[in-house]
Amino acid sequence: MDKLYSPATARKIIDKYGFHISKSLGQNFLTDGNIVDRIIHGAGIGRQDLVIEVGPGMGVLTAAAAEQAQQVIGIEIDENLIPILRETLKDYQNVRIVNGDFLKMNLAELIDEASAGNRERFESVKLIGNLPYYITSPIIMKVLEEGQGAQGIQSLTIMMQKEVADRIRAVPGTKAYGALSVAVQYYCTVEVVATVSKEVFLPKPKVDSTVLNLSVRKEPPVKLLDPATFFAVVKAGFGQRRKTLLNSLTGLYGMDKQQILALLETAGIDPGRRAETLGLDEFAVMANLVSKAVSEA
Ligand code: SAM
Repeated sequence: MDKLYSPATARKIIDKYGFHISKSLGQNFLTDGNIVDRIIHGAGIGRQDLVIEVGPGMGVLTAAAAEQAQQVIGIEIDENLIPILRETLKDYQNVRIVNGDFLKMNLAELIDEASAGNRERFESVKLIGNLPYYITSPIIMKVLEEGQGAQGIQSLTIMMQKEVADRIRAVPGTKAYGALSVAVQYYCTVEVVATVSKEVFLPKPKVDSTVLNLSVRKEPPVKLLDPATFFAVVKAGFGQRRKTLLNSLTGLYGMDKQQILALLETAGIDPGRRAETLGLDEFAVMANLVSKAVSEA
């Protein structure tokens, strides 16, 4: 077969199968081999690795990953792509395609099943994908919250809208900084692998993309008494980002203004500040005080 990632091949496949591109499923197929290589290289896939791919589409990244990895599992929601993938990936015995919604997958179970069929433990488990843009954040948060079982996912090398990548990488005090920045930076270190022009997709999206490598931290950067409280404080703070912390946090766990004021003062945080000015460490100090106050109440 011709090179999988050329626009001509993508069009040929579309014609052959009478495939209809679904906008609502975020289908923008990658047609540039250079970007495929940069994603695969950026993921640092080794011979002993298990790779999980979100949305293989027509299989461009899947085939390239299969060349490098021990095993690849691709999770594709669109059943019309399954016969196409069967053809484009027929030469790869180490690929398993699962037809389903990534957001509903039990990742630990998938990894366990793959490990059971493997003679040796995988050296690492890596997630890759040219993500469907309508669910970028839910996919990332699912992996970070659930993908860390006995053999967890070590890294995510994923393409997304540039604007979402900017939010993930943002630092305190900037407009892009928000709950997503804090959550991802709590779990991961973040690196840019590539910026990608909208010209290399079929069909062409409205905006450019960025490939990020999110490397899951072995140790969290801040010590938390209870991560759920930390995320509740972050969510409440950014939920009303124009308000001062004193106002946005009032009501959290039923606490009144006086109680929040006392906790902010103990934390050494000016109650007139807004959430967007707080670093991870300050959120952690405040969240731990809230956890203590709630457990003592
Ligand atoms: N990896 C292919 C490529 O780079 O050409 C396709 C990328 S396209 C941006 C996103 C893919 O994710 C599509 O194939 C789409 O059908 C699939 N998809 C959308 N929502 C999904 C979901 N909830 N679970 C799994 N796959 C999904």
